[in-house]
Amino acid sequence: MTKTLYADIILPLAVRGRFTYEVPERFAGILNQGMRVSVPFGYNRHYTGIVCTVHNIRPSFSKVREIKDLIDTSPSVNDFQLKLWIWISEYYMCSEGEVMKAALPLEISQNSFKAKQETCIMLARNFSDAELNKILDNLRKAPRQQELLMTYLSLSGYATGTPGLIVRKGILLSQSQSAPNSLDILISKGILSAYSQPVSRIVKGGMTNEHVRTLSEAQSAAYDSINHQLKEKDIVLLHGVTSSGKTEIYIHLIEEQLKKGKQVLYMLPEIALTTQIIERLRFHFGDQTGVYHSRLSDPERVEIWRKVAGDDPSGSFRLILGVRSSIFLPFNSLGLVIVDEEHDGSYKQHDPAPRYHARDSAIMLAALHNAKTILGSASPSIESYNNAVTGKYGLAHLKERYGLIKLPEIILANTREAYKRKLMVSHFTPELLNAMDNALGKEEQIILFQNRRGFSPYIECSECGWIPVCIQCAVNLTYHKSINRMVCHYCGYNTGMPSKCGNCSSTGMVTRGFGTEKIEDEIKIVFPSARVARMDQDTTRSRNSFNRIIKAFEERRIDILIGTQMISKGLDFENLTVVGVLNADNLLNYPDFRAHERSFQMLEQVSGRAGRRSKQGRVVIQTSDPANRIIRLVLRHDFEGMFRLQTEERKSFNYPPFSRMVRINIKHKDRGLLNQYAENLGNDLKQLFGKRVLGPESPVISQLQQWYIKTILIKIEREKPPAKAKQLISEAIERIEKEKGASSLRIAVDVDPY
Ligand code: ADP
Ligand code: ZN
Ligand code: ZN
Repeated sequence: MTKTLYADIILPLAVRGRFTYEVPERFAGILNQGMRVSVPFGYNRHYTGIVCTVHNIRPSFSKVREIKDLIDTSPSVNDFQLKLWIWISEYYMCSEGEVMKAALPLEISQNSFKAKQETCIMLARNFSDAELNKILDNLRKAPRQQELLMTYLSLSGYATGTPGLIVRKGILLSQSQSAPNSLDILISKGILSAYSQPVSRIVKGGMTNEHVRTLSEAQSAAYDSINHQLKEKDIVLLHGVTSSGKTEIYIHLIEEQLKKGKQVLYMLPEIALTTQIIERLRFHFGDQTGVYHSRLSDPERVEIWRKVAGDDPSGSFRLILGVRSSIFLPFNSLGLVIVDEEHDGSYKQHDPAPRYHARDSAIMLAALHNAKTILGSASPSIESYNNAVTGKYGLAHLKERYGLIKLPEIILANTREAYKRKLMVSHFTPELLNAMDNALGKEEQIILFQNRRGFSPYIECSECGWIPVCIQCAVNLTYHKSINRMVCHYCGYNTGMPSKCGNCSSTGMVTRGFGTEKIEDEIKIVFPSARVARMDQDTTRSRNSFNRIIKAFEERRIDILIGTQMISKGLDFENLTVVGVLNADNLLNYPDFRAHERSFQMLEQVSGRAGRRSKQGRVVIQTSDPANRIIRLVLRHDFEGMFRLQTEERKSFNYPPFSRMVRINIKHKDRGLLNQYAENLGNDLKQLFGKRVLGPESPVISQLQQWYIKTILIKIEREKPPAKAKQLISEAIERIEKEKGASSLRIAVDVDPY
């Protein structure tokens, strides 16, 4: 008698651990790791799960249920992927099911996916030109058929001597004056033929495959240095100033891998960055380039998934350009991972779980494939730079801009002084206005950066200082003028402008501070003939809006572009010479240990947009504190100085990279109960970790969507492997969750939270 087989299965649930089911006889020889199965769960539910291991150890619980259905005949999730899921679940302290939910496109995780078919038309056989002429001649008596065939020949490229031969039926019929039955007749006559293939939803760029450009001397040196270091190290950090031509170096590295038949993952922090880079990469690598980002529809995701896995007959992707979730694609022969703008905070997912850092997970992914990783940045994260200077990573520098263009000149404009001396025009200092005037006079373009959207961050009673706040969150409501409403940027709650104060009934409600919308309004008044546009979350809700704005700016149909951090990264505009930072203060004053690092990076990035092609750019930074140490470092583009300053500070306060941090967020709708449970958990943890535990304390935003929030921070030593500490933390959380009445408590763990 054969032994009964069991399978441990990952289900898309937030519950830790796998679920064991019995494998029915009929699946015994076929069922394998990575395949999707349908299993019963609870009273009458079914889930699609992923087979993790198959074994013959009967589980200890009595009622083992059977797998109901096998969805796949070959694995949907490969071995590399499973290993990455398991690593993420352990490192970031979440369930494998939560990783599964983040990793799989819905169509794959919910059930079987089949590519939709579409009909394509081609010539029935290889006709000679003479034969075709004869056919067209004969068809004169049937003008509709003739017209349809002509349309086909033109669309297929036959007429211009570049026959692609295949034309989608839908396109052919929409371009032709003739009806479908003319097509049927041409097919029955053996002139055209029809066949089905999977629908491609992905818009293809042209196949150009132009030769890669020659690297400059400095670029070659960096490139050689990278390759040399990669012989010994798996990870190299490329620290290259803005516009030094890092992308060009990546292109050379990618080219090498593709020649070897390897896959490459090129990561970017945000979709806004991709537009221009997609074009540059497609230009070199053509149709083998896939783009994976958060705005894709599920069917588009599935198509990319299959093209990466190599099981789509209509083509495969060897190069993927993607945002953080692209680490979950089914790579099977990855040779290189590039993490561009590696310092960027949006690589970290905050909510929901898995709260993973895509840069760090990508490094893991590369390691699983025995592949190399390149991290690139003009202002690397303190962590990565520290890893490089201590020898864990290789380090390559590019200290000059391509074409030897100078880094932009930074001009500090003291807003406090300017206000005092009544020199401000609206929110603009004379220095900024001057630079703008100058640029506009020469028909050059300008970017203005303000890291707040909306019109005013808050409104206030001029009599008593009352400020309207969200009804569910502890935050001020932002005034949006275009819709004339006050909006909560955290939960979306919105309400009309109050006509009078909610406290003293005075009618003197005034707007305070400024966001991008207000800057746009006022710039139009100050420069009435300039063409002004705005790029922020509010103007880029529709799918193509990024591209539209970026194209318009590229084609010089916009003189002044106002935006949030969306415009600060990666963009490369030829004619952009002036960048204005309207208020550097609110970057610097953010209350977390990374604020200074982040503001340096932000200012360096946004400055880096100016003067990239032919002449030196100018950056005007408006601040009320021009003596600020970070501002002084930005002035000199002094990254190393910033790194030294920050490492000293971090060392003395035991912050990362000198410790690891785990943050526990505790939420409850009852403030009193929250305080009690948070206190209990804090005390429990202090028994285990002593002084390494900070809090519980109220975060900056202490209430969100009616949930009160407390956080506890634990700093763990770097030197020790974190697994043990994490286990103790998990156990403490389980203890608190078992306490009486704790069922409506929500606890989330965030590893490396910043
Ligand atoms: P980075 O990624 O470091 O900010 P980019 O790769 O965008 O820099 O390069 C800056 C500009 O210089 C781009 O317009 C790019 O096309 C141009 N460039 C860089 N390297 C070369 C090269 N080797 N040949 C021609 N143009 C280059
Ligand atoms: Zn009032
Ligand atoms: Zn709210």
